[in-house]
Amino acid sequence: MPDVTPDDLAAPQRPGALATAQAQLAGAVDALGYGEGMHAMLATPRREINVAVPLRRDDGRTELFHGFRVQHNVSRGPGKGGLRFHPAVDVDEVRALAMWMTWKCAVVELPYGGAKGGVAIDPRHYSRAELERVTRRYTSEIMPMIGPERDIMAPDVGTDAGTMAWVMDTYSVNRGYTIPGVVTGKPLEVGGSKGRATATSRGVVHTTEAALREARTGLDQVTVAIQGFGKVGANAAVIFADAGSRVVAVSDQYGAVHRDGGLDVTGLVEHVERTGSVVGFAEADPLDNEALLALEVDVLVPAAVEGVLNADNAPDVRARWVVEGANGPTTPDADTVLADRGVVVVPDILANAGGVVVSYFEWVQAQQAYWWTLAEIEHRLAERMQMAYDAVAQVARERDVSLRDAALVLSVQRVAEAHRTRGLYP
Ligand code: GLU
Repeated sequence: MPDVTPDDLAAPQRPGALATAQAQLAGAVDALGYGEGMHAMLATPRREINVAVPLRRDDGRTELFHGFRVQHNVSRGPGKGGLRFHPAVDVDEVRALAMWMTWKCAVVELPYGGAKGGVAIDPRHYSRAELERVTRRYTSEIMPMIGPERDIMAPDVGTDAGTMAWVMDTYSVNRGYTIPGVVTGKPLEVGGSKGRATATSRGVVHTTEAALREARTGLDQVTVAIQGFGKVGANAAVIFADAGSRVVAVSDQYGAVHRDGGLDVTGLVEHVERTGSVVGFAEADPLDNEALLALEVDVLVPAAVEGVLNADNAPDVRARWVVEGANGPTTPDADTVLADRGVVVVPDILANAGGVVVSYFEWVQAQQAYWWTLAEIEHRLAERMQMAYDAVAQVARERDVSLRDAALVLSVQRVAEAHRTRGLYP
């Protein structure tokens, strides 16, 4: 996989991530009957930092970027969440992503709150050395806010294991000793965990399997289309194909490819490594990006960025299951349309939680300085994803609501309980 894959940068228009996150919270607060005070606490980030990140370019010029770190909630434990490098990053997007991390960690019962960071930079246009300088400067600027007991970063769109090594090194050098627990998603050589690189995708497949089981079918019976061929989408394609699913279409920001009989996923990954895009893959037909979302498939996996399924295109979705590999890919309007049409949406905070679950395993391993086997990690991941799915599905049945509403109710309730139990200081 290239370090910064094209699809990490797909879908430049991401309308209203914060509006989506706030509308989802309002729905859960309403369902739980919480008052205004609790709603305000849950809706408002606990801490935010806004930093200027100057970069000395390789040619000697100076450029300035805006960076953010938002800790949405730290009541159940340290803040946890990725670092995003994308030109469209702004504070509202980071606020939304941080809030989703709070719910995500709660839904899979990790002892974490939620946080997110971002720098408004297009990493495709900068050298590795320049990205290293940006990462180190950003880390220095937000240093007082992070730490293994405070706020733990991880890769997200536009960043990777190498980025995490720079964050870890910058933090450690400044503290005077090596502190691997300040980030997760690190390279294995510096305390990363086996299985972390594919964990988000593996979790997507586990939750798809759980959803299919409820309908008495299985992974080897279904066709899959994947929107986004970055870290999450590409690994999901491989894992789906290994499980016997027919992956018939994938897209990235440059276009989509389609083959009714199923794509040769291994060949496609090699093609992307060579050319930087899925486009031009010889053993498939070209397809329009929007057409991929409307394909007649069983499972549609949006695996890029926010707002991809909206009121305009949701009526065209013909998949029976939408499994959200990305954060916030479906707007509330689209949710209503999909629900009315009987499409089962496995929501982001559940479906893509595999990444942060193995991040947690990595952090636990770092704290203990004892490393688990891949088999142990994958077993524990599968178990936790199934447990979370079952808990969400049970709430959905009890309340007769969608999996999204159930996941939100369950996680918001867990966070609110933590607030109540701790009490309000002073
Ligand atoms: N960026 C990933 C997410 O959105 C992983 C976060 C983490 O591992 O902390 O879930």
